Amino acid sequence: MSSIDPTAISRPRSPDIISGYHLDKLVGSGGMGEVHKATQLSLGRTVAVKLLNPELAKDPSFIARFQKEAAALAALSHPHIVSIVDKGKTDTTYYLVMEFVDGPSLRELIREPQLDVMGALRRMLQICRAIEYAHGRGVIHRDLKPENILLDQQAGGIAKVSDFGLASFLEDASPSSRYALTSTHVSMGTLSYMAPEQRVDAKSADARADIFSLGVILYEWLTGEVPLGTFDPPSRRKPGLDSRLDAIVTRCLKPDPEDRYPSVTTLIADLELLVPGSLPSLAPVKLTHLQRVRQGVRKVVRMALQAAAVLLVVAALAVLGREWLRSGEKPVPPQPGAALNADLGPPSPRSMPGRLETGSEKRTVSVGHGPDAPSLLVAGRPVEAEEKAIIFPPVEERSQSRVGRARVDVVGLDGDIAVLSARVRADAPPDTWKRRAYVMLYGPSLQAPAAALLLQGSTGRYVALIHDGAGAPLRLEWALGERRGTMLGLASPEGEAALELRVDADGVMQGYVGKGKDQRAIGEPLNLGPGWMEHFGDAPVPAFGCIEGTCRAEGFLYTVRRAPPPGTTAPVPDVPVAKAVVAAVPAKRPAPPPPPKKQPAKAPVKSPPKRR
Ligand code: ADP
Ligand code: MG
Repeated sequence: MSSIDPTAISRPRSPDIISGYHLDKLVGSGGMGEVHKATQLSLGRTVAVKLLNPELAKDPSFIARFQKEAAALAALSHPHIVSIVDKGKTDTTYYLVMEFVDGPSLRELIREPQLDVMGALRRMLQICRAIEYAHGRGVIHRDLKPENILLDQQAGGIAKVSDFGLASFLEDASPSSRYALTSTHVSMGTLSYMAPEQRVDAKSADARADIFSLGVILYEWLTGEVPLGTFDPPSRRKPGLDSRLDAIVTRCLKPDPEDRYPSVTTLIADLELLVPGSLPSLAPVKLTHLQRVRQGVRKVVRMALQAAAVLLVVAALAVLGREWLRSGEKPVPPQPGAALNADLGPPSPRSMPGRLETGSEKRTVSVGHGPDAPSLLVAGRPVEAEEKAIIFPPVEERSQSRVGRARVDVVGLDGDIAVLSARVRADAPPDTWKRRAYVMLYGPSLQAPAAALLLQGSTGRYVALIHDGAGAPLRLEWALGERRGTMLGLASPEGEAALELRVDADGVMQGYVGKGKDQRAIGEPLNLGPGWMEHFGDAPVPAFGCIEGTCRAEGFLYTVRRAPPPGTTAPVPDVPVAKAVVAAVPAKRPAPPPPPKKQPAKAPVKSPPKRR
């Protein structure tokens, strides 16, 4: 990841100079200071701590720049941008704490002799989406280069844009308010990746300077060389490359910003045409705009509320009913996976038609249809069984929770290979004026309905595969102790989506959408390693989750099996399995797992179904 070998460096500073953190090892250094892998003591998790070089910390302009980097990161929350955790000051310098990205930088990847063109384009799209998002939030990076793109190895090498140390905010465009870039700062950027106008006058560089840098990165990625002066088109340097890439790269690299792509969005649209499986009509653009508009609206409405004298608001409050507003539907956390796995209050058991099978190799639970009656622990919102499906009916207006979760209450679902699948859909609730007013007042997070397949371990540990009813990208979100992250896939299909989450014996987890030969991967595989179930704390249990609207899961099926012990070549038998009922556990846990051998071929369900 870094250009230096961390073990070769003696650590000059005490590991405990920052209260609350322990610096474990130096992993990189650059123009501004050092980056250490560290432990955040309160949460016992790994983070990255960037320390401003104490010499530079004597210079107010560097301090301001460092603060600006923190501000830029704080303004951005995106799966392909390194997230910020904290910032602060020690006796001698300043620091910021970020998510630790465990993997090499793009520089190392480019150095590899083998070029995987599709892999490169897919990651390039991730980088572009991150920059598109940043531009949408008014942040220009201005130092895009392979060293500043980190690849998260745990997450299958997804790209994360880092080092916003030269970033600027679009609102600061006036020369007085804008942070002045001194010649020192300019020289800190890397000339080869810098747009001509930025080399001449950094202040005049706008979002199109980032587009130039993206062009240099793409050119170098494809050809192994940085484009200098009059350069050959990529397909001439690297025969066999799709010649449409030539036009894309050339347009990014136009010396005059007017001739470049006018926005990253337009660059993405061209790149997407070359990457099978990425849909041209990707939603984030629209969402970002929408979110910004809504945020603006919300701000205005809040200001109006604060003014307290605005009759309109009073009238609206009167009409809506004070009680209704006070009933206070809790805003949903912004990350759908986190919302679905939050504490939703005490669960109620609910039995559903389904099927339970155990065998020595394979255990299966399906919900919606079948002769058995597996129990679900339902929290947040009630569920119904309907024509082979689990349904979350529309939320009653006054209901406390917009989020519901139905967790299969069956023990003994441990193994090395797991598959969770269902056909899910999430439909928007009726568009009433009350809803619109609510969204205006409390934010858009309530608006998009989402349905999800979940694997839940002990508290706070989960993997969620999320389908967005409004067409935002499919999403794989995971929180497994230190390992957490999000991967975005194709736009969620309209209507029903066949989702599948698979983990193999090596702990490689991958989300899929679609059926049969139309099945496509969602993001990159997530590598949890052998013994992957341990990351869940308790053995993972499948669940169906719903945010807003009406959600429906048909064909909900979870299968776990044991891989043959190492050295055995015998294939895992697919069929048949001895049919036996797994203990359907009553609401109070824990119940012991069923004895593996002496289970009767078919046993009655232990707990009678209880209704809410
Ligand atoms: P500079 O402004 O000094 O270039 P960077 O933010 O680019 O600083 O960090 C320098 C190096 O530290 C990077 O090239 C990378 O190797 C490492 N690094 C930076 N941020 C992280 C992070 N969040 N996780 C892991 N390593 C990081
Ligand atoms: Mg850097």
